[in-house]
This record gives sequence, structure tokens and C-alpha cells, in this order.
Amino acid sequence: MIDLRSDTVTKPDERMRRAMYEAEVGDDVYGEDPTVNRLEERAAELLGKEAALFVTSGTQGNQIAGLVHCRPGQEVILESQAHIFLYEGGAMSALAGLQLKPIDGLRGAMDPIHVEAAIRGADIHEPETGLICLENTHNKAGGAVLPVEHMKAIYEVAQKHRIPVHLDGARLFNAQAATGIPVSEFAKHTDTVQFCLSKGLGAPVGSIIAGSADFIRHARKWRKRLGGGLRQVGVLAAPALIALEENPVRLQEDHRLAKQLAEGIQQLDTFHLVNAVETNILLVELTNSAHTTEALLAHLKEHGILAGGFGPGIIRFVTNNGITEKDIQLILDALHQFTE
Ligand SMILES: *Cc1c(COP(=O)(O)O)cnc(C)c1O
Repeated sequence: MIDLRSDTVTKPDERMRRAMYEAEVGDDVYGEDPTVNRLEERAAELLGKEAALFVTSGTQGNQIAGLVHCRPGQEVILESQAHIFLYEGGAMSALAGLQLKPIDGLRGAMDPIHVEAAIRGADIHEPETGLICLENTHNKAGGAVLPVEHMKAIYEVAQKHRIPVHLDGARLFNAQAATGIPVSEFAKHTDTVQFCLSKGLGAPVGSIIAGSADFIRHARKWRKRLGGGLRQVGVLAAPALIALEENPVRLQEDHRLAKQLAEGIQQLDTFHLVNAVETNILLVELTNSAHTTEALLAHLKEHGILAGGFGPGIIRFVTNNGITEKDIQLILDALHQFTE
């Protein structure tokens, strides 16, 4: 199968599997797993943060940010199509007792003026704003990169009102690959940042959350409370280290193939490319409402191609390390045949 449902489908390669086999391990709840410690130190260094923590998933990293930064009853400002709002099972409400305040953005970016206007808490009737969350790259906006300047503008508003900022940087390394700007330049304009090792970077499991040493001390406790304190987890940190050291550059290949697929799709009348493809995500709409996305997905599957439904009338393709240039041609051929 040619699988473009997500970049989470990437499987560990032989080097990663060997590293898992050979990993030096210890009890990470005691802080004694040398491979985990190396991964956390390296991640903090790349992000320009004091400390980092290996967590089970991106969702866990984002939730720990809410739990550490806020108190129950506070409000979190975030973009209305944010992963935290749409796809984390309402965890910020269920686990942290937080209320979410979604704000519409443009290509995933909230207007700093709208963010500032949404900050509240002075009045006794109002919840206090406890956190502002950003997402870079922005999944629902089709892998759009939030420019560093945008992050800076939001951070200035946040600092003025003494509100922390958390970056859901599940695909932050895609922003680096697309712009050539190091992840640390983006992370400079946020207090904490989460990124996924298990997406385009290709590790089998895990995410990193990073911030100040004090934040990470609290994060470690919340991770334990959530059941995320793992023992000889160096077997997972070892492939994650390879993902972190070697694979950020490889993301450029995912982006190249995504652009190639986008150019091909633009030649086909049956389809409309919803997003300007900047990274590894393509959102494709059917131009004729007589056709359904279900039929399109079934047709692609018959041709050995997997894509995902992504809201009414839209399907999503995500290029990843299992995709070749030949696959792109096969996808374009299958799309071409769809309405014939
Ligand atoms: C995938 C993703 C997450 C969550 O990561 P999981 O490891 O699947 O929990 C969070 N935010 C964004 C933007 C994502 O794309």
C-alpha cells in the first residue's frame, strides 16, 4: 500500500531497530536511563531551551503544558482549527479543568489583535486567560508554516499580559525544513514547545516537551501522574535520537514530493488544491459535488493508495518516508482515472 494517510505511519528503519536492540538502558523514573537522558539533553539543545522531557505522545506533551501552566477554571486561547481543540478528546477540559477559547486564524495564524482582545480575567465573572497555544506547522491549515515574525508578535502580546505561550510543534521540524530557519528561532518566541518524533522524523514512538528547568520539573511530575513514567525506555529513546540527529534534513524530500503531487493535481479539472503546499500536507477538494470523498478514497484504495478524509468534501495526503517519486506518479494516474 502507498500510505499517505499521515506521516505517523512511518516505520523504524534497520538502523533504528539495531539502535533499539543495542540501547543502553536504566530506570527512567529514577532518571537513570542514559539514552533517554541523552535524547532529552540533545532536544533541549536543538530547541534552545533549558530542559526537555521525553513523553509518550504529542497529545501527552500538549496536555502536560496545560496542566503545568494553568489552574482549573482558567481559559486557553488557541486557533479554532488547532489540534488541541479538534483532536485531543477534550483533554484540556477533562484532565486540566480548562476552558478553551478558539479564535479563527488565517492559514493557522491568529491575528495578535484578536488574541489580545480575547485576554480576560480582571472581572470577577470571567475566567482568567492561563495560556495561549500556537501550532506550527498547522495541520488543519494544510501544513502551513507560522512565520517567526508572527510567533514573535503573539509572544509580545502574551508577555505584556504575563501569560505563557505553548507551541504545539508536532511538525516544527517541517517548518525548519521548509524555511531553513532553525527550530530554536521559532522556539525562542514561546515558553514551552512540544514536537513529535513519531511523524516525519520517523521514530516509532514519542514526543518531546521542552521549556525552563522549573517547567520540566513540574512536567515530570504530571507525566508520572498521567501514567507516562516509563522504565527502561531507552529502547524507544535510541531510535528517537537517530530520528532527531539524522532525519530533519530528510523532511525536505517529503516536501519536494508533496509539491510534485500538488503540481500534478493542479493539472486535473476534477480536483481543487485547497492549500498552498508549503510542507508535507496536501488538502484536496472535489470540484464536482456529484462525486463524494468516500468514492474517491475507495477508488484510491483499489489502486493501492491510502489517503484520509479531512472534513466535508476534502481529503488529505501526507507525504512521508515511505513514499517515492514513482508513487507520486501512480497517485496522479489513479486520480486521473477517477472520473473517467
Ligand atoms: C499529531 C499531532 C499531535 C498529537 O500527536 P500524537 O502523538 O498523535 O498524540 C498534536 N498536534 C498536532 C498538530 C499533530 O499533528
